[in-house]
Amino acid sequence: MHNLTLSVPGQVFLLKYQRKLKNILLLTILLSIVCNTSAQIRFITGYQNANVDTAVSVANYSTNTICFSPHRDSLNTETVWYNFGITGFRTDTIITFLMNYNNIYYPPNYPVVSYNGKEYFNVKASQRNNINQFSVKPTHDTVFVSTGYPYTYNRLQKLIKSINGNKYFKIDSSFTTPKGNRLYLLTVTDHNTKSRTKKNVWIIARQHAFESISNFVVEGMINYLLSDKVTDTDILSQYTFYIVPMVDIDNVISGQSGRMSFPRDFNRDWNSPRHSEIETLEKWIKKSGKRRYDMFFDIHATYPGGRTTNVFSYFDIHGGSIQSQNLNQFWQRFYNLTHYRPKTIDDTNVYQEGFSADYYNAKKYKRLQFATTIECDWNVNSRGKVWQIADYLNLGENIIKAVPVK
Ligand SMILES: [Zn+2]
Repeated sequence: MHNLTLSVPGQVFLLKYQRKLKNILLLTILLSIVCNTSAQIRFITGYQNANVDTAVSVANYSTNTICFSPHRDSLNTETVWYNFGITGFRTDTIITFLMNYNNIYYPPNYPVVSYNGKEYFNVKASQRNNINQFSVKPTHDTVFVSTGYPYTYNRLQKLIKSINGNKYFKIDSSFTTPKGNRLYLLTVTDHNTKSRTKKNVWIIARQHAFESISNFVVEGMINYLLSDKVTDTDILSQYTFYIVPMVDIDNVISGQSGRMSFPRDFNRDWNSPRHSEIETLEKWIKKSGKRRYDMFFDIHATYPGGRTTNVFSYFDIHGGSIQSQNLNQFWQRFYNLTHYRPKTIDDTNVYQEGFSADYYNAKKYKRLQFATTIECDWNVNSRGKVWQIADYLNLGENIIKAVPVK
């Protein structure tokens, strides 16, 4: 009895202790879960144009290092583009990004970083032993990184929505891509002028999905054409601008690079199209009237790893022909406006893999002044500055200003 009475408070103590122990244990487990969660860097890819290969990308919390590889869908043979966010990293030390580019072509010298997924800025990357490295100050709890300034399908749709009431602007046609997205043909002109001498200028961009910067150039063109800066409305009464701003929409949305897209690169698909997008573009061009067809521009971007300090270059596929002379005169007008002297490249082998857009158009429509590919650059311009979005918009404006032959 005595022992028993003695044992009662002992048991109560033991029970209390066990309960405490259990609580401490539970708390420890809970804490360890919380700590583990907060000590885990997570990849964010659930947004338009996003892409990283999470299967092979690894984040290390203690060193605050992200080793990553862009995702390549099985149909693409070249990988250039990445665009993803991370969260859950340490905020007391810099974040180091290491991009493995064993299978990746031309990693960027100036990748871009954002804290909100909207405004991006350049950082300098260095290359060593197949690793492309850059670092970011963790001033926010989320960081987004990308090969270059992303230009999404959303942005294009917003632009179209914002100008849709303008009397000089029209969505001329649209076409549904294999993945169910809307591909736009836009026209900018004075729709009331039905002059017989009115000329057609065709502008297409983004046949290669990773070449996002080309879309800022096109946006600059559209903005200029619809702006108050066009005080001389002659350009809109003399020309119809047919613009297909985003050709490979499907790969843009899914964040693929798009270069060498299966079954054939979009820009080698023009002699006998296998992509329904190219087939449709050819029909639209044909329908727009070949007699008054004056100029064809296909806006691209170089590989981001290129180290040319060039405004941009163009492919001249016609050596010393009249079209080539016209093209040189166009660039002279552009030079007079900007003092940028583009580099010219004679790309005569382009038809061997399949016709490129400029080659196809120049060959099929012989009355054209010229058909050309413009390659925008991702690196440092001829003034020693890294290209910014405003510069690309400005390029677009000046390309349009250089169109009229005075
Ligand atoms: Zn391209």
